[in-house]
Formats: sequence, structure tokens, C-alpha cells
Amino acid sequence: MKQEPEDSRRGLSASRIVGMTMEAQDGQQRPKKINLRRPDIMEAVQAQVLSHYRSNLVERIRANGHVLSVPGVLTVKLAKEFGFCYGVERAIDLAYAARKAFPDRRIFLLGEIIHNPEVNDQIRRMGIVTIASRPDDAEIEAITPEDIVIIPAFGTEVATRKKLEARGCTFVDTTCGDVMSVWKRVRQYSKESVTSIIHGKAWHEETLATSSQARANGSGHYLVVFNLAETDYVCDYILNGGDKAVFLEKFKGAYSDGFDPDLHLKALGVANQTTMLRGETEEVQRRLRAAMERKHGSERVGDHFRFFDTICGATQDRQDALEKLLKTPPDLLLVIGGYNSSNTSHLAEMGESILPTYFIKNGSKMVSTGLIQHWDQHKREEVETRDWLPWGPLTVGVTAGASCPNNLIEEVIERLFELKGVEIPGLPPPVS
Ligand code: SF4
Repeated sequence: MKQEPEDSRRGLSASRIVGMTMEAQDGQQRPKKINLRRPDIMEAVQAQVLSHYRSNLVERIRANGHVLSVPGVLTVKLAKEFGFCYGVERAIDLAYAARKAFPDRRIFLLGEIIHNPEVNDQIRRMGIVTIASRPDDAEIEAITPEDIVIIPAFGTEVATRKKLEARGCTFVDTTCGDVMSVWKRVRQYSKESVTSIIHGKAWHEETLATSSQARANGSGHYLVVFNLAETDYVCDYILNGGDKAVFLEKFKGAYSDGFDPDLHLKALGVANQTTMLRGETEEVQRRLRAAMERKHGSERVGDHFRFFDTICGATQDRQDALEKLLKTPPDLLLVIGGYNSSNTSHLAEMGESILPTYFIKNGSKMVSTGLIQHWDQHKREEVETRDWLPWGPLTVGVTAGASCPNNLIEEVIERLFELKGVEIPGLPPPVS
């Protein structure tokens, strides 16, 4: 099992906090490291982040074996791994540190720092201005060398970074190391004229950034497959050919400029968005490998197919923990997180296949015992379910995506107890 770095098991991350600035010199943009992790900055950042996102109740539940129970009425079972991951903690720390280090400079954020609306609202309240994750010319031209630009945890596209470098602004780069590992893999495929097949969501910031790496050297191709049905379509094309125009229309927006399925499906390397469902990613690579083996023979498949597991440790740990929790299924499952959060959506998907599951972004979505508003990821809209909270003794599973702060988990648990009409029981204090 992949493990999160020890120093990030919150408390607060003690991760390296280093930004990068590009200085104009002889017309060239040169990278220069700046360190935001000065003790004076970090002390203030840690206090502020704790005050915004920490939950005493969640820490006490953790210390109580992840269970909170009023026997005969309500038992909450919290997954063993949930909520903020090391990459998210680091991104938030860096954004807060940037504000502290540059109190008088304009700070811009490319899109969202992470996929959680409450956290993004908080960042905006600190005077950090959101611009598009792929800024247009007007937004780029408005950036000056005096400005700070924060790159979010998912990274940014190569073209956007280059345009911003040309403006001479200072970057605070919060791209997660696990995302950068995928980039490295995709760049390697590209150098070896291997087409990157990226299992991911073509519209997601991380996958947009990753796929841009396949073109970073000017050549190289990619194709993004979202699910097993799309994978099967690609496998069938590899084995039997087909109508190129139909293929290109089906995958519109999910392949590189100049991609030709008749030319660029001969040598494939699979990578995945870090937050996909692990079992599905394994099946994607298994099916593509089988197709390449049938096409080229088992002795030569190594020349035509590569695979590297790029699911991140945090995603894997949260999926493993939920799988364990669901072995003895509770009566229902609450999955907490931003509706555009990929890793959260996969937790909800795991639950849906086994028990009533509600994907909510905060406690206010539990309107009453008779009504809950929750995200339906298949319809891609918030829907309402009536009579969702059964009468009588109830066990509720709770988990949260990697971008969900503990204070929102607390809010959901408190609301559950309120709706069941019981006080939250006393618990031992959290282990410090
Ligand atoms: S979910 Fe994984 S890849 Fe994304 S920020 Fe967290 S650790 Fe990094």
C-alpha cells in the first residue's frame, strides 16, 4: 500500500514550502527559488489553517476507534482514512503562506486551489483573486512582474505556464508531487514515440495539465479514456480498425492535435489521473494490454505496451478504507466533498454499488429527516431524495474526499445527531 508522508498526517503539514519565481534577465526568464517556509510565516499559517479547518469532534472520533455511538439510536462509523491528503494540505499551506509573505502584492489563483467550495471561498476572502484555470489573453496581459500567481494542486497546462512565465510574475507552485510523477511518465512515453493513454476525465484540470505534458516537447500524442466502455471501443479499433472520423468525433476534446487512430495506436503507454477508481484503472490497462497482445503477439507486446500505476497513495488509502468499512455495510453512507472532486466521486461510486449513498458538500444539504439534497454524478446535477433517514436504530458510514476539511465532516455528524434527536455523547480527548 502506498503511504502518505509521515510529516503530513495532520496536525499541519511540515512539508517543504517553496515557491518559484521567474526573473527577467537579458530577455530570458530564469527560475529562482524562494522559500515561503520561514518560521514567522509558518507559525502564523499553521494557526490560521487550524482555526479554519480543524475539528475537535473529528479528532475525538478518530481517538475513539473512528466510532461515535448512542446505542439503540445512532452509530456513526468514520472510515479509517478520510479528508485532507498531503497534497491538499501542502497546497493550502502554500496559498496561506503566499498571503502572509506578500501582504501588499496582488495574488492570483488559477482556477480552484482544490475542489472544495468552502476552501475556495476562504481563499477568496483572504484577497486572493481567482482567474480562469486556462486564462484568456486579457487575463494574461493583466498580470505584471509584481504579481504572484498560485498554481493549484492539480498543476496547470504547459501553455498556460509558458504564457505566465513570459509576464515575469512570481509563481507559488502548489502542484502535488504525485501529479508531477504522472507528468514525468507521460513525458517519457512522448520521448519514446509512445502514445499516452490517460485514464481520466478529459475536462478535469489535472488531466488537462497531464495531457499537455505529452506535447511538451512539440511531438508526442495522447488519448484520454474515461471508462471501460471507451477503453473497449479503443481496443476494438486496435484489433479491427474502423471509421476514423467516427472515432475522432467520439473522443472529441480528448486527444492531441494531429492524433490519428490509424497511426498512433501502435505503441501505447497507460497512465491515469491520480484520483481514479483503482479497480477500473487496473481493468483499463488489462484490457488494453490484452488487445495489444492479440494484435502484436505475446513475445512482442513489450515493444507496444507500457503501464505505470499513477493512482496516488492518498486516493488509494481512502478507497481501501472505504472498502473495509463497507465489508459490514452500515444502513447508509454519507460521502462528503466538493461535487467536482474526482476522488470524492469515486468514493460515492463505491458506496452506490452496495448501499444507499448520498454525496453531499456540507451539513446544510441534510435539510430534514424527510429530505436530503445530494449530487448525482450520473446526471451531473444536485437531486433531492425524500425519506432518506430511516426511523429506528441506525448505523451511518461517513467518509470524505481528499479535499474535504474536517470542520465540514463535523458539521455533517452534528446534523445527523440533531436529526435523530440525540445529543453527541462524551468522548475521550483527542490524542495530541
Ligand atoms: S489526491 Fe493525491 S494527487 Fe491529488 S493532491 Fe492529494 S495526494 Fe496529490
